[in-house]
Amino acid sequence: MSLTLSSAHVHTTFCDGKTPAPDMARTAYEKGFVSLGFSSHAPQDFDPGYCIDPSREEEYKALIRALQKEYAGRMPIYLGVERDLYACVSPEGYDYYLAAVHYFRHPDGHHTPIDGRPEDLKRYVDTFCGGDGLEMARRYFALLRDYVVSFRPPIVAHFDLVRKNNFALRLYDEESAAYRQMALDALRPMAETGALLEVNTGAIARGYLTTPYPAPFLLKAWKEWGGEVMVNSDCHNMLYLDCAFDEAEALLRSLGYDHAVRLGRKEKWERVKL
Ligand SMILES: [Zn+2]
Ligand SMILES: [Zn+2]
Repeated sequence: MSLTLSSAHVHTTFCDGKTPAPDMARTAYEKGFVSLGFSSHAPQDFDPGYCIDPSREEEYKALIRALQKEYAGRMPIYLGVERDLYACVSPEGYDYYLAAVHYFRHPDGHHTPIDGRPEDLKRYVDTFCGGDGLEMARRYFALLRDYVVSFRPPIVAHFDLVRKNNFALRLYDEESAAYRQMALDALRPMAETGALLEVNTGAIARGYLTTPYPAPFLLKAWKEWGGEVMVNSDCHNMLYLDCAFDEAEALLRSLGYDHAVRLGRKEKWERVKL
């Protein structure tokens, strides 16, 4: 049984998730969750199938607020949003948000998804990075670092998302000193913002990776810098609401973490002993 018993990173049919929000809330409650946070992809003016339709943002907020009332006294529900760097709304009016970078923006205004189809990312590397996969990773980390340092979000989502497609494409060597230093250099200034670093099990649930984001060497450094983490499932299907939480918690303990942070029962954030 996982100790976290919560996820602040949950998608529904309002964006690219498979499960309607009421079914997700019921699943969490039946699993004995102490809290649940919804975090649909914030409206953006491109790739519309992926995010909340801008005309439905108020409907999303109203439904989650209604679920909040329905579960009041039993399981606190929070209204969150996963806000991409290129989203077109501010996170105001939400209880919290997760900051994420899912795209490269081209000079002509088009976008390449970072965690979309491998062939699209490969084409980006060939067209814009001279075929250099490490240069692609450098650009990704620079975008995320600058976003987090300037916006100071409460949570940083899937820090090393570039690993997803690198798993199949082998665009760069994840074990290389150059890659590791690049990732550490991007993570270091985030520790000073006080953001929570998400330990995201979503890619395990979907079979893309065997370890969570971020990779263990990054979690180890984060601990040394005094950073705090939260375990999230980035759930798109209620069947995987707490997928691989046990493994993530065991990994954190092995790296010296004695607690994680979750959405709380009384306070917004509460610590849970690992
Ligand atoms: Zn994401
Ligand atoms: Zn997500």
